[in-house]
Amino acid sequence: MVSKHTSPRVLFPQSINEALQMAAGENSPVFWAGGTGITASLKPNSSLLNLPKVIISLRMLDELTRASRSELGMEIGSMVTLDRLASIRRRILPPGLPETLALTGNKPLRCRATLGGHIAQALNRKEQGCLLPLLQLLEATVEIRYLRERPRRKPVSAVKRIPLTQLENEEGLGSSQLITRVNIPASSWNFVVVEKLPSSESTASPLLFHSLARIEKSVLTDWRAAVSDATGRILRNRETEAVVSGRSLPFSARDRSALEDGIKWLTKPWEDRPEDCAAVLRLAFDFMRKAAE
Ligand SMILES: Cc1cc2nc3c(=O)[nH]c(=O)nc-3n(C[C@H](O)[C@H](O)[C@H](O)COP(=O)(O)OP(=O)(O)OC[C@H]3O[C@@H](n4cnc5c(N)ncnc54)[C@H](O)[C@@H]3O)c2cc1C
Repeated sequence: MVSKHTSPRVLFPQSINEALQMAAGENSPVFWAGGTGITASLKPNSSLLNLPKVIISLRMLDELTRASRSELGMEIGSMVTLDRLASIRRRILPPGLPETLALTGNKPLRCRATLGGHIAQALNRKEQGCLLPLLQLLEATVEIRYLRERPRRKPVSAVKRIPLTQLENEEGLGSSQLITRVNIPASSWNFVVVEKLPSSESTASPLLFHSLARIEKSVLTDWRAAVSDATGRILRNRETEAVVSGRSLPFSARDRSALEDGIKWLTKPWEDRPEDCAAVLRLAFDFMRKAAE
């Protein structure tokens, strides 16, 4: 059987508006950021890659490659690569980000993969996005640009800023919605745990445990934690977060019991992996013990 292959049309918009216009005028266009997710998901077809028909490269959009920090927080352009983010000085980056970047793929992947591509890929395909749980705990907001239709008039460029937690519940991004920036508000977390389980080679897909705490004068003023896996499932237990926040350290027996129940609830979907669940519990208690020292 002879199958016909046509090369994709690759468009290089020079501005965000042009990218949106191009996306609106094409049938099933695909934004191309680092290309790692797109190429990894393609099925080889007769030794040729089955590329999308229309690719809109975001490479010329310089304004999306900037990252800046102010007293309000950090603003990161969607075309900033994970490696460039990791090269920013540790004390400038939000807490937990250097550790989470280090366990996201390997260096060659991070040199190509972008923050916008990472978020879009995880949201659209409901798959592993190591950075998503941390960004949610940090209350990150995603800026999305799109063309808004108007009756009897030309569509106009519009922007919306959506908390990542809310975006995760939506049905992915539309094909002409462009992630332009990620905003992470300034925060004063002073204790962080980021752990991948199992940490050794294993066939099981890894679980991620993220925990952030603010401790002032032996009081746990705020605590947040998330457990996630490669299917894109991210779990938090806000009830336990509220119960233990504001408690004195070290914990009383009652607080310890509340934390234990909360962590057990958090890891329930993975109860077929008792060792990893026990490790999460241990991490949470080690964390509280160290915080109390
Ligand atoms: C070998 C390998 C190992 C990996 N290991 C890990 C890992 O350990 N942990 C982990 O979390 N992930 C891992 N990944 C996934 C990786 O993080 C993603 O492939 C990567 O972040 C996607 O970014 P990109 O810039 O390459 O996106 P692309 O591949 O260019 O795009 C991915 C998707 O997002 C869309 N998109 C891109 N940019 C935008 C934008 N600005 N606005 C709207 N839509 C956009 C594209 O249209 C496409 O649908 C791995 C991937 C590979 C190939």
